[in-house]
Amino acid sequence: MNELAAVREEALGKVAEAEDLATLEALRVAYLGKKGALTGVLKSLGKLPPEERPAAGAAVNAAKEEVQAALEARREALQGAALEAQLAAEAVDITLPGRQGSRGGRHPHAVTMARIVEIFRQAGYAVASGPEVESDYYNFEALNIPAHHPARAMHDTFYLEGREEQAAGDPRWPRLLRTHTSPVQARIMENTQPPIRIICPGKVYRVDSDVTHTPMFHQVEGLVVGEGISMAHLKGTVIEFLRVFFNADDLAVRFRPSYFPFTEPSAEVDVECVHCRGDGCRVCSHTGWLEVMGCGVVHPNVLEMSGIDSERFSGFAFGFGPDRLSMLYYGVDDLRLFYENDLRFLAQFA
Ligand SMILES: [Zn+2]
Repeated sequence: MNELAAVREEALGKVAEAEDLATLEALRVAYLGKKGALTGVLKSLGKLPPEERPAAGAAVNAAKEEVQAALEARREALQGAALEAQLAAEAVDITLPGRQGSRGGRHPHAVTMARIVEIFRQAGYAVASGPEVESDYYNFEALNIPAHHPARAMHDTFYLEGREEQAAGDPRWPRLLRTHTSPVQARIMENTQPPIRIICPGKVYRVDSDVTHTPMFHQVEGLVVGEGISMAHLKGTVIEFLRVFFNADDLAVRFRPSYFPFTEPSAEVDVECVHCRGDGCRVCSHTGWLEVMGCGVVHPNVLEMSGIDSERFSGFAFGFGPDRLSMLYYGVDDLRLFYENDLRFLAQFA
């Protein structure tokens, strides 16, 4: 029985250490084959007294079964590992992306414009548009900026040639590239009775061009007209928009008295600097504030000129440069980067 225990122990140990199927087969032959060690022990039972043979035979058979089971388990483990190794070696990564052409993306200004439109859409505003080649009437007259009004001097207007038409009294002349999106207000009010709730995003043009100005830029105009509309509605709307746009629920916003011919009272809107949160930095010229918008209560003259009863209705309007909001939102401090078409810059926003 001692010999049996030793052979069993040795067999199980070697099986556990076997590293390949060939070794395993050799072990099977060495212990369980016709001339194997355990078979030898079984044969030697004949030397035992008859009364001891049954118990010893049972023990040898149990040991054989145990070794057989260990061989099977080890074979399965080795075969499994071999299969895993083969699969790993021959694996084809079907998740590897194919070679594709590079994909374009929207310009950061376009992304910002889409965000602005979406914010106002959710507040129930409709999107309106108007012509970029505009008449003097809609760009100035209808907005309470008559000829020789000093405010015209601030607009650096591109005029289109058309002296003959003008001389012939054609009311569409003189024509110009609109200097702001406000003419859309006048066009909408002419054709729509209140309540009116619109924003007009679009391109506008001014003659000046330097590091902080481009001859073409974008504006978003907002207009609300209805009964009982007041400065309070304007403030609530503007503050809420700016907080949503800059993702800052507690963004400080302030209104400074200002002057525009088409609104009365008028205000300019500052937000707490989104870079230094009011502490003062280069972006805000160390004031802690950034000017972002002009706005006011629509001047009664503007309502009347567009055929809206200013005794019954009132409204507010605001206008801002989405390009500037884009720069502040993305933390870009040079306007030219947006127009140089450097893909390394633009691809970051795609
Ligand atoms: Zn700052």
